[in-house]
Amino acid sequence: MTDQPLPDHVRSIVDEIETEIGELPRPDPDALVSAAAIEGGARSGGPNGRVEAAVREILREIGEDPDRQGLLGTPGRVHRMYAELTAGYHVDPARLINGAIYDVDYSEMVVVKEIPFYSLCEHHLLPFFGTAAVAYIPNGRVLGLSKIPRIVEMYARRLQVQERLTLQVAEFLMEHLRPQGVGVVMEATHLCAVMRGVRKPGTVMTTSHVLGIFRANDKTRSEFLAHLQRPSPGA
Ligand SMILES: [Zn+2]
Repeated sequence: MTDQPLPDHVRSIVDEIETEIGELPRPDPDALVSAAAIEGGARSGGPNGRVEAAVREILREIGEDPDRQGLLGTPGRVHRMYAELTAGYHVDPARLINGAIYDVDYSEMVVVKEIPFYSLCEHHLLPFFGTAAVAYIPNGRVLGLSKIPRIVEMYARRLQVQERLTLQVAEFLMEHLRPQGVGVVMEATHLCAVMRGVRKPGTVMTTSHVLGIFRANDKTRSEFLAHLQRPSPGA
């Protein structure tokens, strides 16, 4: 990735993933307002004209008129949108984890489930989205609860295939938390599958990745899967 400063609208998403609400350093609250202003076309984020020109070309190719009123702002919006949806490339993992690993004498399974995520399929640049369940068995250290959805977000906001997204979340936790083991299950609907060709609405793809004791021990893996079957309180 380049070291160029990020456009404000991308920076604010990166900051949101890296830091807790109310935690420093945060961009000033006006950053959100300016993001809205950007959305209105007052400013573009990191405009270079190349992406805009490419989007105009796509519009022409599909038989549209990029100069008709409804499409005039589209190339700029598409440029900003892709920068936002791929903001995960710019998240600093050290900053995300920062100060949220605690020494705790707890060695039972920690499960965080029904974490919503939205990602982009790298084959078609179409969304795939669903929920993630992440579990680990601590080895003397636990991670602040709110960090796990942020880890998912960091990797989801990139061009992905679901298998790699699942693996990256698991490996990140294994590397930074050094638990006894990690299990990740993701279920998602891929618009490239449901919008194109044979329509099978409701097609859900499930991927899983297990490491450490989750891989070695059937009982641990079964306990994890049993957690996923159980309805959540309030569900
Ligand atoms: Zn696809």
